[in-house]
Amino acid sequence: SDIGSQKDRVVTEEEWLQKWEMGDIGFHKEQGHPLLQKYLDVLLNGRSGLRIFFPLCGKAVEMKWLADMGHSVVGVELSEQAVKEFFSDHSLPYCEEPVPEISGAKLFQSTSGNISLYCCSIYDLSSSIVGKFDGVWDRGALIAVNPRDRQRYASVMINLVEKNSSYLLVTVSYDPNKHKGPPFYVPESEIKSLFG
Ligand code: SAH
Repeated sequence: SDIGSQKDRVVTEEEWLQKWEMGDIGFHKEQGHPLLQKYLDVLLNGRSGLRIFFPLCGKAVEMKWLADMGHSVVGVELSEQAVKEFFSDHSLPYCEEPVPEISGAKLFQSTSGNISLYCCSIYDLSSSIVGKFDGVWDRGALIAVNPRDRQRYASVMINLVEKNSSYLLVTVSYDPNKHKGPPFYVPESEIKSLFG
């Protein structure tokens, strides 16, 4: 399958920050994602107290859902505005500290301790900084990454997951010649070659 002209498209970090500033966040789902409800059992597989990772998390409300179920949630998001809106939307008190290993990065943690959001680029993370995860909710993440950066993204993700982890991935399917994206069309064959 061909991804057409999308393969050269680049959305800069600055453009993402601007989307948040302008309130141009049509991707945000106020009510959370029905597919997470539907496949929650697949993600958890009967386990409790998991470490769950949200790449490119925005202010996804599913982070609150999983934390309320007793899991530890870690997210990464470029936009500090998004991170702060997450905590204020849910009236969650938080503290903020620098991340010594990553220049310019900040860690925002709920005072209750089970939601940690890194404000930096996903490409700055590694398991030596954030540990490994039992589960991943990848919605609006792989499909938001610039097509030329997918390999790099997949390498980071593979480094961050435990052997027995579950990875839920939401993609979109449409004719990539009709929209410039994001969200980008990621053919299933490419997903297989990225993640094996
Ligand atoms: N997953 C979220 C947000 C999807 S939109 C949801 O389901 O609502 C993609 C998000 O990724 C945006 O908030 C954007 O600011 C952020 N982002 C883009 N590039 C990033 C990068 N390299 N590292 C971390 N976050 C990034």
